[in-house]
Amino acid sequence: MKVAKFGGSSLATATQVRKVADIIGRDAQRRLVVVSAPGRRAPGDIKVTDLLIAAARARLSGASGRAEIERAIERFAAIGADLGLARESLDPIAVDLRIRLDADTADDGLFVDTLKAAGEANCARLVTEYLRASGLVAHCVDPLEGGLILSEEAGNARVLQASYGRLRTLRKRPGVTVFPGFFGYTESGRLVTFPRGGSDITGAILAAAVGAELYENFTDVDCVFAANPALVENPRAVAEITYREMRELSYAGFSVFHDEALEPLFHAGIPVAVKNTGNPAAAGTLIVADREAVGEPVVGIAATSGFCSVYVSKYLMNREIGFGRRLLAIYEDEAIPFEHTPSGIDNLSVIVREEFFNHATEERVLRRIRTELAADEVSVERGLALVMVVGEGMRHTVGLAARATGAFARSGVNLEMINQGSSEVSMMFGIKEGDVTAAVRSLYDEFFSGSG
Ligand code: ASP
Repeated sequence: MKVAKFGGSSLATATQVRKVADIIGRDAQRRLVVVSAPGRRAPGDIKVTDLLIAAARARLSGASGRAEIERAIERFAAIGADLGLARESLDPIAVDLRIRLDADTADDGLFVDTLKAAGEANCARLVTEYLRASGLVAHCVDPLEGGLILSEEAGNARVLQASYGRLRTLRKRPGVTVFPGFFGYTESGRLVTFPRGGSDITGAILAAAVGAELYENFTDVDCVFAANPALVENPRAVAEITYREMRELSYAGFSVFHDEALEPLFHAGIPVAVKNTGNPAAAGTLIVADREAVGEPVVGIAATSGFCSVYVSKYLMNREIGFGRRLLAIYEDEAIPFEHTPSGIDNLSVIVREEFFNHATEERVLRRIRTELAADEVSVERGLALVMVVGEGMRHTVGLAARATGAFARSGVNLEMINQGSSEVSMMFGIKEGDVTAAVRSLYDEFFSGSG
């Protein structure tokens, strides 16, 4: 069987939902379908999930949130009406959304999650109704009933191992099973969501649990591209890519597929097909365990902003046993995840995401490093971006670092950091955020256009 996941843009309008139903109906193996919430109908539009978050925030800040919730109800009603669904089949959606807005607000995170999940929960209902109206046998399963058990981390939940055994029984259901993405329940029965874009993760978990032969991820582009089309004109399509390559590129900004979604698929060895709902005949991109990296060593170039580097130096650092552990323990204590730690003989930089490092946190961490570790020098550099050059063929190819640094030099981009060697499939460079476009274009030219 195949698991097919449809993203928000594939469900934003009745026209899109019709295409989804058509795709499902064309292949009898597409028996497990995961849906996101309706996304943007056009540039500048708001996603249903963002409306729901706005409703939750409004209520938490003392306003009613009614206006936002009514807008979300209207979005569902419009899609349902355009699909020709009976009014009675849409009423439960409006009732559900209003009940959620009145839920207990004692725990902010759980309250927001209850609302956030409503987009997927009700979209699954709507799609099920439409599939039935189109003559298919279809039913909708709530993640509680299906057995998707998550950690107690509101807005940032992770799957618990016990889920896999429970979800396996979905195999036995007749017809098409529609499963809402993005949320599940804790052991104690509380609703929690994955990070944003988490319906990809639900689909991946389901594919692994039922041992699907293929996980199809339907989105709004024909395939994964070798570079961000917003930065490089007409970048080339990627036909095949490994989990490792995709993981590194998604980490650095390839948003076609959620990076956390690869983990269950990687362990179960299930290939992923990235496909376009608007153009299902296009070949798409296949994400696989291994591929023959013939000819070209590089598969993609990605860049992502929002990092800062905390530089620490102390004379004879290399002789001080436990220095690194004590330094990182400060980050652990402060609940700041670290991303990378490039090091020298007497110095070490800790690279973190700026979202976890506001000015108050910075002040606390720097003070602790100075006093607890008696560092000679501590400084912070903000506004950094990471650029990744990724490809399975890289470890067998001589001279790639020289080509990459040559490309940076030609475009006049200064390198703040180079991190090479830890990963067999990538090179990572730290640059200033303002240099991202020049850097990516120049690397793309070097590795793909042959004009370097
Ligand atoms: N609807 C959720 C979001 O906008 C999850 C998803 O679409 O995957 O983040």
